Amino acid sequence: MSRVRELIDKLDEKKHLDKEEWVTVLTEYTDDDREYAAGIAQKISIEHYGRKIFIRGIVEFSNVCKNDCLYCGIRRSNTNAQRYRLTADEIVECCDEGYELGFRTFVLQSGEDKSYSCETLCGIVKRLKERHPDCAVTLSLGELEFEEYKALREAGADRYLLRHETADKAHYEKLHPAEMSWENRMECLRQLKELGYQTGAGIMVGSPYQTAECIAEDMLFFESFKPEMIGIGPFLPHKDTPFRDEPKGSYELTLFLLSLCRILLPRVLLPATTALGTINPLGREAGVKAGANVIMPNLSPAAVRKKYMLYDNKICTGDESAQCRGCLEQRMKSIGYEVAITRGDFK
Ligand code: SAH
Repeated sequence: MSRVRELIDKLDEKKHLDKEEWVTVLTEYTDDDREYAAGIAQKISIEHYGRKIFIRGIVEFSNVCKNDCLYCGIRRSNTNAQRYRLTADEIVECCDEGYELGFRTFVLQSGEDKSYSCETLCGIVKRLKERHPDCAVTLSLGELEFEEYKALREAGADRYLLRHETADKAHYEKLHPAEMSWENRMECLRQLKELGYQTGAGIMVGSPYQTAECIAEDMLFFESFKPEMIGIGPFLPHKDTPFRDEPKGSYELTLFLLSLCRILLPRVLLPATTALGTINPLGREAGVKAGANVIMPNLSPAAVRKKYMLYDNKICTGDESAQCRGCLEQRMKSIGYEVAITRGDFK
């Protein structure tokens, strides 16, 4: 038996590897090891969640951002980005349409756009919860103040997605301008947990300057923080960012990491991300077969979809919500899975 395979078994049994062991897994794995991990991961996923996939309708309601993350296509320095903002009514309308399509979780995501006051955002959350009491609301608005997270939680928000991006401070500083702080991002995650949000952390695979040691630290962070959700997708360059010429992340390593996360945290809500579907046309199906159990199709109005370009060639930007929903149903059927019409909470 290969050393990596032994370590995958150990992870499955002990739910822990040391940093050096993680580095071994991440640097020495073969396609066979990866498939071995995927087999275990898919089995765990089916044990806990069945052959059911949870869907989350994502409304990308503003691409205005005060931050300047070096990898991101909607960074403030990108003067080529055509900025847009949806009104509260438009956001609610997208979710109403989503409800009809069978979505029971709405994800509101945006750049860090300070033109939406905390009151406005709380008002949107409250309206959504009043109209659709059987639905979960997930927010992904970046770093806010504790009092804002608290107010939004009290308004009814159930979950919050905030990828930590990297557990290695020095790496974080190579991906972000000096005014952004790794400590604050990590502190935000702790606050979200404390407030009772189902909390999502995560990384981009193959972001510039990422090493196996960085990913080992990410896995140790997942082990200790125990996020209810983990977002992992490949880094994909955007033509109007400083990282335009950087290579994209590895498709295979992304799949392998999905499996390893599933084995580490058996009940974690784990999406096969849009970036995974962008790097490979069958990436989301492969993600599910590697242990993912969530898909997050777009509910944004077709007119703005092309403007929320975090990376080049993002999929589904020419479609209507209903088309995405139908396409997804077929894709999941093709691999023997069913789309579940339910909130899909962490168990
Ligand atoms: N502003 C919010 C949410 C929007 S960004 C926030 O800061 O959380 C959502 C995620 O997209 C980021 O966390 C990042 O991991 C991912 N992302 C951004 N640019 C990307 C790129 N070029 N390739 C792949 N993923 C990217």
